[in-house]
Amino acid sequence: MTTDTTSAPNFIRNQIREEIEAGRTGKIVTRFPPEPNGFLHIGHAKSICLNFGLAEQFGGDCHLRFDDTNPAKEEQAYIDAIQADVSWLGFEWAGPVRFASDYFDQLYAWAQHLVREGKAYVDDLSPDEIREYRGTLTEPGKPSPYRERGVEENLDLLDRMRVGEFVEGEKVLRARIDMASPNINLRDPILYRIRHASHHQTGDKWKIYPSYDFTHGQSDALEGVTHSICTLEFEDHRPLYEWFLDNLPVPVTPRQIEFARLNLNYTLTSKRKLKLLVDNGIVDGWDDPRLPTISGMRRRGYTPASIRKFCDMIGVTRADGGLVEIAMLYHAIRSDLEDNAPRAMAVLKPLKVVLTNVPEGHEEVYEVPGHPAREDMAVRRVPFTREIFIDQDDFMEEPPKKFFRLAPGKEVRLRNSYVIRCDEVVKSESGEIQELRCSVDFDTLGKNPEGRKVKGVIHWVSAEHGVPMEVRLYDNLFQVEQPDKDKDADFLEHLNPESLVTVQAMGEPSLAEATPESRFQFERVGYFCADRHACVDGTLVFNRTVGLKDTWAKVQKQEAQKKEQDEKEQDKKKG
Ligand code: ATP
Ligand code: MG
Repeated sequence: MTTDTTSAPNFIRNQIREEIEAGRTGKIVTRFPPEPNGFLHIGHAKSICLNFGLAEQFGGDCHLRFDDTNPAKEEQAYIDAIQADVSWLGFEWAGPVRFASDYFDQLYAWAQHLVREGKAYVDDLSPDEIREYRGTLTEPGKPSPYRERGVEENLDLLDRMRVGEFVEGEKVLRARIDMASPNINLRDPILYRIRHASHHQTGDKWKIYPSYDFTHGQSDALEGVTHSICTLEFEDHRPLYEWFLDNLPVPVTPRQIEFARLNLNYTLTSKRKLKLLVDNGIVDGWDDPRLPTISGMRRRGYTPASIRKFCDMIGVTRADGGLVEIAMLYHAIRSDLEDNAPRAMAVLKPLKVVLTNVPEGHEEVYEVPGHPAREDMAVRRVPFTREIFIDQDDFMEEPPKKFFRLAPGKEVRLRNSYVIRCDEVVKSESGEIQELRCSVDFDTLGKNPEGRKVKGVIHWVSAEHGVPMEVRLYDNLFQVEQPDKDKDADFLEHLNPESLVTVQAMGEPSLAEATPESRFQFERVGYFCADRHACVDGTLVFNRTVGLKDTWAKVQKQEAQKKEQDEKEQDKKKG
């Protein structure tokens, strides 16, 4: 058993540890079972971190198994993307990539076994009739007229279903359990449906496909899974999961444990809804940096470590329905990049500044640390020239009192360089500011000017040597915390029209070397990542990963302070 270093404790971890210590469990085997009908999202990351994390922590195995029982919605492209995402997150599955479809022969044999035991039958009711006969939460169901069919007839019909003698919906195979069970899942659930669909793994071999319930537990058992961890919506399926294991000659009996799914505010964690955004061209594919997909977050600039850290922070519980703040996810990536991203200067809204007392052709180069606390990072060479760009937001013609940046007649320090004073504002005929003319105080390199206090420091880029680049400013995709809260309304109405704003920016020359997916802090601006698709042939496109302001940490701090104060007051009252 390895030590608990990678992940925070939670109820499942504690339970498994107890089992191991009591000698009730040997080597543990978990699995991550995605359906290849879309890309993985941050909710899946929670499940991945949990399942792979447990295997890592207790020296067990975690399998990657595609739960591929619905060929109509599944695609090879999703299979490839899911594998890439799991690997990118830093996890390795034990053994080969597995597919539930690998077990179709065995599952079929087990279906025949149930028929022979009188525990399954072919039903001719239509899907609507089946629903009607099933009853409700308050009323028991009633048996299908086909429920008492003989074994031989059932076996024959099942075989003819398999080879495609019937049309879709004409017949199903059902378990024969209890039409009056208080748990609707036990009212003769469907085991096989007819589907004349070609399957990405098995081709045209099958005309019937097993249901999720008939597939999942048996696949777990065939793989020797010890702990089958899933989300809470499967809690009511657990008796059925166990019924199959009890009534089939399975090699081992895994145990199902449920936990609460992750819901994140200002976004959606449902593949179906994300697919709708992709299919309607509302976002730029499954890896659009605004999506909470793992590949979208990757393109946005998230690191695997930051996603794993976030999953540790949110923990694993059985408390359902909570919304986790996206600010917490932003916090996780921000603190990673704070420590690990090299710094650079970039001006998002360039305003030209001519430094009138710097001669034309003059150039000096500053050697600036790549990161204030990381000597291992390469030093940057930042050239200073007569013409530079500053950000439009760092200049105001009529500044309010506490504006410590540049204004007519005012001074400001250029980061890593001199103090300059704004002497003149040059405007176009229509009154738009075209450039500023400023003068440099050459006595201020690395020291304060004599007798004057210059509070503001702004970033800048040499106009001559700076590199043009496109910057994509991403924000929350939705304007409201829970876009799909109202089930009858259209969640698309809540899209944030400003979720992507693109600007033409100027960056310091060192950024020309940025490789796809390299991440930076643009000083005073935020954290950015070179786009993995667009940065080719010298084109520079940066995606904003996250801003600098940490609202989550701030709120945590305020809450801690308030708690402390409350406690003090309580103590005072007590005397
Ligand atoms: P979606 O509703 O987005 O399609 P799903 O549950 O149908 O999700 P699967 O591919 O079947 O997606 O899920 C694979 C695994 O990931 C399952 O074990 C599932 O419980 C887990 N999972 C899916 N969504 C979340 C979530 N939001 N939080 C935690 N785990 C999740
Ligand atoms: Mg699913």
